[in-house]
Amino acid sequence: MSNNIRVLEKRKKIALIAHDNKKKDLIEWAVHNKKELSKHSLVATGTTGKLIEEALDQPVVKLLSGPLGGDQQIGAMIATGDIDVIFFFFDPMEAQPHDSDVKALLRLAVAWNLPMACDRTTADFLMTSRFMQEEYSYELPNYTQYLNRKV
Ligand code: PGA
Repeated sequence: MSNNIRVLEKRKKIALIAHDNKKKDLIEWAVHNKKELSKHSLVATGTTGKLIEEALDQPVVKLLSGPLGGDQQIGAMIATGDIDVIFFFFDPMEAQPHDSDVKALLRLAVAWNLPMACDRTTADFLMTSRFMQEEYSYELPNYTQYLNRKV
């Protein structure tokens, strides 16, 4: 087996982010999944985190508000292996002042092969996956060739 294996522990580090028009959706979904979410640790962008914490009565690590750098903080945590699963309810109908940060977050989640749900249906599928309850190992994308490129 390759050395490039990452293990997602049974207790996942979950990131929660919702744009303003999607916050109600994410909160409702989180309340519906309160029991399951209580088995994991939660991190969120500032405003989303405050609302989730109030709704679930569960501590949430709150980063900066998304447009003020929170999305970039989540992106950095993805790259350093500090996030395992992402629930990011972005607004597909409205341009955001921090669209470039949103794009960067989505890109990093894919670059690091992380499970991510961007709407409620996918969130239901992801949350009910047996891998949410178990340790899960996977091979990280291999960027050696990129890192060793001639420049
Ligand atoms: P917020 O940020 O949770 O601070 O509102 C979310 C976002 O727009 O990325």
